[in-house]
Amino acid sequence: MENKPIAPPPNGNQKRLFFWFYLVILFFLVTQGSLTGTYRTTETNWNDLENKMLAEEDIAQMIVVNKERVEITLKSEPLAAGKYPDFRSNSRGPHYFLTIGSVEAFESRLLSIQDKHDLAQLPEVRYVTRTNWLRSIFSWLLPFIIIIAIWYYIFARIGRRGGMGSVNPFDFGKSRATLFDDANQSKHSFEDVAGLEEAKAEIQEIVEFLKNPDRYTYLGAKIPKGVILVGPPGTGKTLLAKAVAGEAQVPFFHLSGSEFVEMFVGVGASRVRDLFRKAKDKSPSIIFIDELDAIGRARGNSLSMRANDERESTLNQLLTEMDGFGTNTGVIVMAATNRADILDKALLRPGRFDRHIYLELPNLEERKAIFEVHLKPLRLAKDIDVELLAGQTPGFSGADIANICNEAALIAARQRKEAIDMQDFSSATDRIIAGLEKKSKIISKEEKRIIAFHEAGHATVSWFLEHGDELMKVSIVPRGKSLGSAWYLPEEHQLFTKGQLTDKLCMALGGRAAEDLIFNEISSGALDDLEKVTKQAYSMVAFYGLDEKLGHISFYDSTGQSDQSLHRPYSEATAQIIDEEVRNLVNEAYQKAIAILKDHRTELESLAGLLLDQEVANRDDLVEIFGERDRTQPQQALLANG
Ligand code: ATP
Repeated sequence: MENKPIAPPPNGNQKRLFFWFYLVILFFLVTQGSLTGTYRTTETNWNDLENKMLAEEDIAQMIVVNKERVEITLKSEPLAAGKYPDFRSNSRGPHYFLTIGSVEAFESRLLSIQDKHDLAQLPEVRYVTRTNWLRSIFSWLLPFIIIIAIWYYIFARIGRRGGMGSVNPFDFGKSRATLFDDANQSKHSFEDVAGLEEAKAEIQEIVEFLKNPDRYTYLGAKIPKGVILVGPPGTGKTLLAKAVAGEAQVPFFHLSGSEFVEMFVGVGASRVRDLFRKAKDKSPSIIFIDELDAIGRARGNSLSMRANDERESTLNQLLTEMDGFGTNTGVIVMAATNRADILDKALLRPGRFDRHIYLELPNLEERKAIFEVHLKPLRLAKDIDVELLAGQTPGFSGADIANICNEAALIAARQRKEAIDMQDFSSATDRIIAGLEKKSKIISKEEKRIIAFHEAGHATVSWFLEHGDELMKVSIVPRGKSLGSAWYLPEEHQLFTKGQLTDKLCMALGGRAAEDLIFNEISSGALDDLEKVTKQAYSMVAFYGLDEKLGHISFYDSTGQSDQSLHRPYSEATAQIIDEEVRNLVNEAYQKAIAILKDHRTELESLAGLLLDQEVANRDDLVEIFGERDRTQPQQALLANG
């Protein structure tokens, strides 16, 4: 049987819209009818008027209305005799109407009919002017109704497109925050947040304040007005804020910075005002603004001033509101951002967001804890080793780990397994690092040889470099956009020496160097590597002050203002030195890679051969070809795409 889609029932706003629509139509019909009387009279023509009504003297009266229309009332006798079957004998006139061009033409035609039919007398003709006031009002109102309808429609569409759900244009300046309160409680608690112990401890203090404010105010302590969570994407900022909502048991207003800003000037500021008003009404309460950078960017440093007016006025309003309530009003503003460096300084000063909590990518122990949280709801096989999983995922954020767990479950389900095993996690990790395998990609034999040597080049160079990362696996199975990949486990460093960074350049250039050495020709396959190398070399010279010729100088601008500036903060001569030194650095690294490959050409060729045979070389294959490396600190898996 065919399933017909069922139209959803109209919601409240649609019903209201229909109501107004029907009312307008009804109004129109009523005014039309009552003014013209068309529902009682029947239109006639000159022929009937002349030959039937006038010739037979059946007309009692003719009324010329507004010089354009004649209303004809018949005598009662012909009606009673049934000469006009459209009307009953006792029906009151006017019975017919006729539209005339002009009064003069009408009169002269009447006279000529009188002559023609030799009539003794014409019926009585009266002239009246009627003001159709309802129609006049309506013709005034109609344009307004149309304009309002269009206005309503546009606002409703914007509302829906912005995901705001409301179609009421009068709510446009109201805040769109989601409210978690007794009726709609946040389901998160601090238990869902793994690791982040320091951040949790700080945040817990705020929760405590909201629960027992007297304990703090009794001693005269002031609680921070604003708390800003700063950290890379996916490190759990939003999760932490939601956990606060769940734990604090106070109303929690959650919205994203971008929800303040619309294309209409003034809307953002009005939404900020509305949000703070609502929060104060429900005090003690928490406001959480996610992605604060959408409105909190430093003011007045943009190239396009006009485009920023709305954002700036929103920010100004936010600054004003945060000043406007005292520390003990019980409203705490929390915010999250990935980029505290570009935020306006006024926002970060004490008295506004005075407490800054920095979240970082999780370390080994924290990753283990995050895995444990996300493994809990999964059906796992006995071979799952959380320690190993955490070890294989350095540089991963909490969101990445949550994603791996879900991906592993999907992979296991696809294979109809009873439980998720280590192999599924390994496939999920590979997939998340390198993208989906694309075995169907058509690659010629010659291209495959180039890719195999390219990847083997990365592997060989990294294996024999002093600071080369630990290599775990090499593959020439295309994944995502890349044609081959090498998996590394870099050590978790806070600092990098010049030697370490130079070795990274060398590793990245290993693929191209191998192509050069083996085929005497280079290909376009090193695009990713070269992009990485160029950026890193520029950072080393211009930012980290690692170049001898340029000296201990850094052009890094942590405020982000230089991104928007048209002027370089250095001279043409310095620019030339930077370019030259970057080129030297890259060339040296390239020569070093070539030298290593020349020294270990046999190993390079046997790894490439193995890759051409079986597409993937595991750690054991690598050890067999290159021999054991003396450094064993596997910690972090990164990928060098070929
Ligand atoms: P963004 O800056 O991109 O908004 P975020 O820092 O706000 O990112 P969240 O949205 O909080 O990141 O995290 C995304 C998901 O990652 C969470 O829903 C959760 O599943 C997982 N996650 C992140 N950090 C943790 C953690 N410490 N413990 C448990 N799960 C975590």
